[in-house]
Amino acid sequence: EEERRRYVKGKKLGEGTYAIVYHGHHRDNPSKLVAIKKIKVNAEFRDGLSFDAIREVKYLQELSHPNIIALHSVFSSKNQNLNLVLEYLPLGDLEGVIRDTKSVHYGLADIKAWMNMLARAVWFCHESFVLHRDIKPNNLLIAADGEVKLADFGLSRSFSDPYLNMTYNVITRWYRPPELFFKARHYSGVVDVWSMGCVFAELILRTPYLPGGSDMDQVTLICKALGTPTEQIWPGVEMLDGYKAYAAISSEAVNPPPPKQQLQGLFGTIGGQGIDLLLSMLALDPNKRATSKQVLQHEWWLTNPRPSKKEALPKKG
Ligand code: ADP
Repeated sequence: EEERRRYVKGKKLGEGTYAIVYHGHHRDNPSKLVAIKKIKVNAEFRDGLSFDAIREVKYLQELSHPNIIALHSVFSSKNQNLNLVLEYLPLGDLEGVIRDTKSVHYGLADIKAWMNMLARAVWFCHESFVLHRDIKPNNLLIAADGEVKLADFGLSRSFSDPYLNMTYNVITRWYRPPELFFKARHYSGVVDVWSMGCVFAELILRTPYLPGGSDMDQVTLICKALGTPTEQIWPGVEMLDGYKAYAAISSEAVNPPPPKQQLQGLFGTIGGQGIDLLLSMLALDPNKRATSKQVLQHEWWLTNPRPSKKEALPKKG
């Protein structure tokens, strides 16, 4: 109740799959703007959800990093709705930038700057033992000074399960790593690195890299683009519960790993080291995939062109 009274809720800014976002400001300092995100909680999940979700989200309040959206406060309102008070970021998200091919022009130095900010955010969260599990351009919000901020961190874990039927197929699929389709029981931070790789490819192509229409289609796209996972490429893959379900249906052809020329054609603009980094993020075998730390240590960041200064990054018109 006390937390709730510290903020004044204003007009509605937008609505997503599981939340309504309002404009807001501090009661005792109207110039301090915030976004208040009211999570829609189905009555049937409310009891089980709120305790875990609040605990999880409280932990996220302590994650403080320039490339992670600040969570100022968490409170529950009438009907036990969960409200998150977030840093106000009015310039939209990276998806808007990527899609606006008419008026937004960007180059390699800009891609490098955006990817580096994303990589720092992901590394920091993994250092803090938090997985995101829903990295995509739409969750990368842009601050007034050009800084990219990872949003909805950890929320996917707290909220996605009750919403599985609703969100799983719609939102996450294109950025989901193969081990999740194969129902690997243990997975790690490299699930986020795969998603980061998909965002990297999308920034270059300006269209989603692997836009599967169904889970089956997604796995087929992954196999076509990056090769079919086999025991040679990914030791142990055939033992995974989900693998056989996909193998049985798509057994027509085992695709080899993509030839260099094909990757050159698609991603040549980022250079040899850039392609090397991209492929290390998109390794099929999670044990061979780069960790977020290794991503940050890659030499591509140091090659020319250097990343754009955040103030100089193109914005949506
Ligand atoms: P979606 O994932 O569909 O964008 P969200 O619930 O995250 O849904 O957000 C809904 C809308 O609210 C966004 O499209 C955006 O316009 C606005 N919004 C979300 N977060 C913020 C924020 N921190 N600052 C300003 N506007 C925001």
